[in-house]
Amino acid sequence: MNILFVSSEVFPFAKTGGLADVSGALPDALNSLKHKCSIIMPMYRKVMENGFYPPVLKKNLKISLGQREYIFDLLFLKHRNTDVYFIDNKEFFNRDGLYGTPEADHPDNALRFAFFAKAILSVLNDIGKIDVIHCNDWQSGLLPLYLKINKDPITKIKTVFTIHNMAYQGLFGPDVIPSIGLTWDFLTMDKLEFYGKISYMKAGIIYSDAVTTVSKGYAKEILTSEFGCGLDGLLQTRASSIYGILNGVDYSEWNPKTDIYIAGKYNEKDLTEKVECKKNLLRLFKLPFDDKKPVIGLITRLAAQKGLDLVAERIEDILSLNTYLVLLGTGDEKYNNMFKNIAEKYKGKAGIKIGFDNALAHQIEAGSDMFLMPSRYEPCGLNQMYSLKYGTVPVVRATGGLDDTISDFNPATKKGNGFKFSEASGDALVAVLKRAVEVYKNNKNWKVLQQNGMNCDFSWENSAKEYIELYKKIS
Ligand code: ADP
Repeated sequence: MNILFVSSEVFPFAKTGGLADVSGALPDALNSLKHKCSIIMPMYRKVMENGFYPPVLKKNLKISLGQREYIFDLLFLKHRNTDVYFIDNKEFFNRDGLYGTPEADHPDNALRFAFFAKAILSVLNDIGKIDVIHCNDWQSGLLPLYLKINKDPITKIKTVFTIHNMAYQGLFGPDVIPSIGLTWDFLTMDKLEFYGKISYMKAGIIYSDAVTTVSKGYAKEILTSEFGCGLDGLLQTRASSIYGILNGVDYSEWNPKTDIYIAGKYNEKDLTEKVECKKNLLRLFKLPFDDKKPVIGLITRLAAQKGLDLVAERIEDILSLNTYLVLLGTGDEKYNNMFKNIAEKYKGKAGIKIGFDNALAHQIEAGSDMFLMPSRYEPCGLNQMYSLKYGTVPVVRATGGLDDTISDFNPATKKGNGFKFSEASGDALVAVLKRAVEVYKNNKNWKVLQQNGMNCDFSWENSAKEYIELYKKIS
């Protein structure tokens, strides 16, 4: 199969969250299975800041959108096994922030990503044969629609639309309609209208040939009013074309055997060096080393979804379990301040870094004893799977992909790879951490639990095969 993978963020070029990890790894996995998968993404300023300067493949390309003409260059480089194309338009992408700044979204996001979708369709011939275009999230939601209303032969190409998070829908005022090349009849409930706005995610769901999401659990959850974010009714009408395919882990990036960022290398047979990683992590956060005290790590976007209010609310109880808490995150000002206050108040017990730092994320994975994800909802979640590989025991809320990948440890049977709690409450959170700390005190049981996790295999190969099946089914 020939696949074009469309994504608004791709690791290592530009990343804000899990979508970038998926976009950086799944195409490679598809190529390893002897298919041809190329990536296309916007040429953000961030790509250069990350040290990549893709050469120009084609200059001064033109598209018209609404009443205007736009000019852009098509850039190209090869990364690992994969061809990567970049749409380079300075007006839209040469600025700080992929989607916005901490204060606000970019005001022209509707136009930026309409342009991105339209520009991609204009360069398909430069990329070569394509059977399936795989779109991801609202930023590429208009592409299946543009493809369907296009009258030339490229309409033979099929589209898959993957939802990585229902809560981010790309909602814009209807006034953008003329500028994105659509007519007013798209402002109806059976097309793009969503409570008076237009929804790019709705375009992706309605006009693609198949819809997927990133775990089997979340694929079921989004059909309910609790998790469907207002689109559950629409999704139910497409239920037979909705597939849950679990994200995988790129073990060439996330593996304590080879990780270039960590203080000591280790593996499932020999964990001796993990303690060096813990010492290093505590040093980085100016916390005194104490092997009796488990370190609870968190790496997260600071957003309501992640259940961090529960952590803040019960921080006193969590730390009084004789634990350290180490958090790396950035996001909503409200949470940034909440955790800055915790850092002030609990010096010597809690280490907080507000910011985005890939190297530190690896060091937290390796140096922590437990990894906490109290999410209110979690489409897939990647860090719990990374943690398993690092012998860092996940403590998660039983929702979406967290529920699919983590099984509760039972000290009697020695089965399970982590700890789970169901109720989204401070009491349930403290209770599960109490349980985890009890097991931590028993070295033998803890080691079994760590090894259960390290022996789990969430590599991309299986999921990539499921995607291939799906591409074939719709072609
Ligand atoms: P989401 O996509 O909802 O943010 P995921 O768990 O699917 O959550 O993926 C998050 C990815 O982003 C992981 O690779 C995680 O390590 C990374 N990440 C999140 N916040 C930060 C941060 N502040 N610094 C570095 N990496 C981060």
